[in-house]
Amino acid sequence: MTDESLNKSTITCDVCPHHCQIPAGGYGRCRARLNDGEKIICANYGKLTSIALDPIEKKPLACFHPGSKVLSVGSYGCNLSCPFCQNYEIAAAKESDFHRLYEISPEKLCALAVQEKPSGNIGVAYTYNEALVGYEYVRDCAMLVHAAGMKNVLVTNGTAEMHVLEEILPYIDAMNIDLKGFSDDIYKKLGGDFETVRNFIKRSAKDCHVELTTLIVPGLNDSPEDMKKEAEWIAGIDPAIPLHITRYFPRYKMNERATDIAVMESLKTAAEENLKRVFLGNV
Ligand code: SF4
Repeated sequence: MTDESLNKSTITCDVCPHHCQIPAGGYGRCRARLNDGEKIICANYGKLTSIALDPIEKKPLACFHPGSKVLSVGSYGCNLSCPFCQNYEIAAAKESDFHRLYEISPEKLCALAVQEKPSGNIGVAYTYNEALVGYEYVRDCAMLVHAAGMKNVLVTNGTAEMHVLEEILPYIDAMNIDLKGFSDDIYKKLGGDFETVRNFIKRSAKDCHVELTTLIVPGLNDSPEDMKKEAEWIAGIDPAIPLHITRYFPRYKMNERATDIAVMESLKTAAEENLKRVFLGNV
C-alpha cells in the first residue's frame, strides 16, 4: 500500500477533543471507536461489561430521586488516562481483554429497565466506563427509555465535543460529571481538556439536573485555594449545583496513600463558602 492510499484510509474521529486520526482497521485512543475502512464506528455498541441495579446515590446523585434505584450499565474504553482510575479494569481495557461481554440491544436494555420497575428502578444509568465514547448506544437506549416513561442518567468525564452533547441532551434527565480539578495543568496530566469540560458542564446545567464530582488525589488537586476557585466557578452557573468531593484510594498506577480525612473536611469547608450542597464521598 502506498503512503497516499494509507493517508486516504485514515479518518478523523470527531467525538472528543483528541480528534484521533485512525487508520483503516485501527482503534482510537479510547479503544472503543474503530475505522472500519469507510467510517468511524462505535465498536463497543451494545457490548456491556457490567449491569447492576444500583442505588441512585452510588452514581453519585444525591438530589435526584433520592432512595430510588437505577439499572446501571457500562461497556469498555475511556478517552482520559488517569493513573488513579478507580474503574481501570473496564475503562482502560479493549474488547479482546474480555472473555465474555453481554450483548444487549437498546430494546432489550429498555425491557430490562421496565421489568425492574417493581424493585424501585427509575430508568437506566450509563456509567462505569466513559459512556460517551460510545454515545450512539446511549442515544439509542435513552430514546427508548424515555418513550417507556423512565429516566436516563449519564455519568461522564465531560470530555466530548458539543455536537455529541447536543445529540444526547434531549434524552438525559440527570448527569454526574467529573470535574477532575480546576486547572489546565491538571487536565493536561490526565490527557484531557479543561475548557471542553467546563463548556460541557455549563451547557448541560441549562437543560438537565447536574451534579459534579471531584476525586481528591493527594498532591494533584488537594489545595483549598484551588477548591475555592472551583466552587466560585460552579456557583457562577448555579450555587445549588451539588458537588461531591470524593476520597481517593490507591488504585491502578498510583500507590500514594489515601487522602486524609482532615484534608477532605477542609476542602468541603472551602467549597461551602460558595456552594449550598457539598457532599463528602468514600470517607
Ligand atoms: S472518542 Fe475515542 S477515537 Fe474518538 S477522538 Fe476521542 S479518544 Fe479518539
